[in-house]
Amino acid sequence: MTGTSHLITLNGVVIGQRTVGENNCFLDILTDKLGLIEVTSHGAKKLGSKNAGISSLYTYSQFTLSKNKGRYTINSGEPICSFHNLSSSIEALSLAVYFSEVIRYCTTSEEDHSDILRFVCMTFFQLAKGKLALDFIKAVFEFRFITHIGFMPDLRACRECACYQSDEMYFLPKTGSIICSDCYEESPSSYEDYIFLMTPTVLHTLRYVAYSDVNKMYSFTISQQSLNVFGAISEYYLLTQLGRGFDTLTYYKSITAFTPEEK
Ligand SMILES: [Zn+2]
Repeated sequence: MTGTSHLITLNGVVIGQRTVGENNCFLDILTDKLGLIEVTSHGAKKLGSKNAGISSLYTYSQFTLSKNKGRYTINSGEPICSFHNLSSSIEALSLAVYFSEVIRYCTTSEEDHSDILRFVCMTFFQLAKGKLALDFIKAVFEFRFITHIGFMPDLRACRECACYQSDEMYFLPKTGSIICSDCYEESPSSYEDYIFLMTPTVLHTLRYVAYSDVNKMYSFTISQQSLNVFGAISEYYLLTQLGRGFDTLTYYKSITAFTPEEK
């Protein structure tokens, strides 16, 4: 008695892998059609197994899965693209591990996530390519991801006077809104304690990353000074909206922290 099972074909990228027994694995796969799902891969750890390649971390494949009693199992698959060489840099790898933890925590299953999958693959592609600064990839990932899984801030205009732009505006991470310095200074105590001062460039960057087409995400440049503010906003906004920290982020920061030379 095996029960009824049916087959489904979808695309996805492996973002988590746990060995079960000698040769099998549980995989976390971010898919286009079903969001994040846990999948059993038989023989994934066996040399020469047909499932070994498509079960590798940060590999994007087309999978055919069977579903039986609510559990998915790999039936067959064809690798499309591997981002595995991102692990040649320990900093890039630890950033990918942090992104994967955020994705696992936030992404629901049984829902279409084609856009999120495309964005996550673009991010892994950039990590593997190694051309862009990691802090830039981190800031873009955090802000784009959090704004597109249900935490879209209102960046259109000052929440009080509705002006589109002024020389100085503040980002309010708790409420996900912006306010111009004139309105803020009228009554600073009535707003949240921790806010970010933004130049027009930083505000433009937030709007670009939140509102532009996903294909444009890694195709802009920004000065280091603006990136520092954008990066601080992205990380703080993500952690504040999710209401938690991530050990994998702490680890990433510990290995990339600037260590001053001893005098
Ligand atoms: Zn205003």
